[in-house]
Amino acid sequence: MGTHQISQQLFERAGAVVPGGVNSPVRAFGAVGGTPPFMVSGKGAYLTDVDGNGYVDLVCSWGPLILGHAHPAVVEALAEAAGAGTSYGAPTPGEVELAEEIVARTPVRKVRLVNSGTEATMSAIRLARGATGRGKVVKFAGNYHGHVDALLAAAGSGVATFGLPDSPGVTGASAADTIVLPYNDIAAVERVFAEAGAEIACVIAEACPANMGVVPPKNDFNARLREITARHGALLVLDEVLTGFRVSPSGWFGLEGVEPDLMTFGKVMGGGLPAAAFGGRADLMDQLAPAGPVYQAGTLSGNPLATAAGLATLRNATPEVYAHIDRAAGLVADAVAAELTAAGVPHRVQRGGSLFTVFFTDAEVTDFDGARAQNTARFAAFFHAMLDQGVYLPAAAFEAWFFSAAHDDAALDRVISALPRAARAAA
Ligand code: PLP
Repeated sequence: MGTHQISQQLFERAGAVVPGGVNSPVRAFGAVGGTPPFMVSGKGAYLTDVDGNGYVDLVCSWGPLILGHAHPAVVEALAEAAGAGTSYGAPTPGEVELAEEIVARTPVRKVRLVNSGTEATMSAIRLARGATGRGKVVKFAGNYHGHVDALLAAAGSGVATFGLPDSPGVTGASAADTIVLPYNDIAAVERVFAEAGAEIACVIAEACPANMGVVPPKNDFNARLREITARHGALLVLDEVLTGFRVSPSGWFGLEGVEPDLMTFGKVMGGGLPAAAFGGRADLMDQLAPAGPVYQAGTLSGNPLATAAGLATLRNATPEVYAHIDRAAGLVADAVAAELTAAGVPHRVQRGGSLFTVFFTDAEVTDFDGARAQNTARFAAFFHAMLDQGVYLPAAAFEAWFFSAAHDDAALDRVISALPRAARAAA
């Protein structure tokens, strides 16, 4: 690896004008130390930083880039869309096509496009409250649903990485109706519904949590949530912002088949541009304005560039792409486990479809406490040894690794051959 001089200079300049030098906390490398490389281009499975260093990218923009960087079909669709104007604030054919594509792939019958996963979950919660006339929301510790006030309690992702139990600025009032339960603990869900079932608008859960690291649902957890919510007249919201269109053509739904009332999507469906969605049963979705009274809107919602990139991505995300990504993730996951075993490093590789996390702990991780019990110092050493060898991993121990259709054998070999040194560094 060459120098990082220009990145260092940029990080200093950024720190003077941007809080922490970044526009999303985990990018600052706070959990692993060091200066984040500032990226200038991506092609296929590779990223290049401003100092000219190349990396195999296992972040893929935190999930969206299922086809890899600068896929020709996406670039072409974007160029064509940009040439026709960037935003009209009026209905467009692309929005209809993207909504139809989502409806065709998932159990949702109607969908509303928004700009980020945060907006999707925020709007789904509002709709759940509006439709049920109830106020309380149940969420699970370590599940991340974006930076929505009501959902920023005991959240995963950057909130976990930075050890924040909650965020200052979220008032007691806005979190007062949020009930946080341990993940995978169905008895706790039963208890809370026995006590307050008639006040609960919805349960929201990541369909397969991946923001405290990958912690799949156990013992039919999602099916049990489905049954309990239905019994009490509450809604089930499954958040597939991260898993949607990534772990199967539909998402986690395609692997498990539990049908919620509302779903949220983001990441892959925008193909690297800001697009997200929430959807569900037609009767529920028709309670949104202008069809119904629950207000939700957006100046750039359904933006023509974002819908063009999303459509080009989904149309090229064929069953073969999913098979390729599953194989790639499996090869690397097995190789990581083998190298960490050889180096005597306690670890646990947990998979949810093609997503996996390497936990630096011996025990199976089934909830947030288990995830937080891992040795993050070992992760940091492992991370930097990989980075030095040109492999760009998520810069936090509580994240999944991401693969794309562009991660061919050459890219995977480069990752696998970097593992022995990284495993020794973590010992
Ligand atoms: N929900 C889940 C499951 C996520 O993983 C994320 C982001 O990582 C979000 C919601 C929020 O999405 P965004 O960052 O686009 O606001």
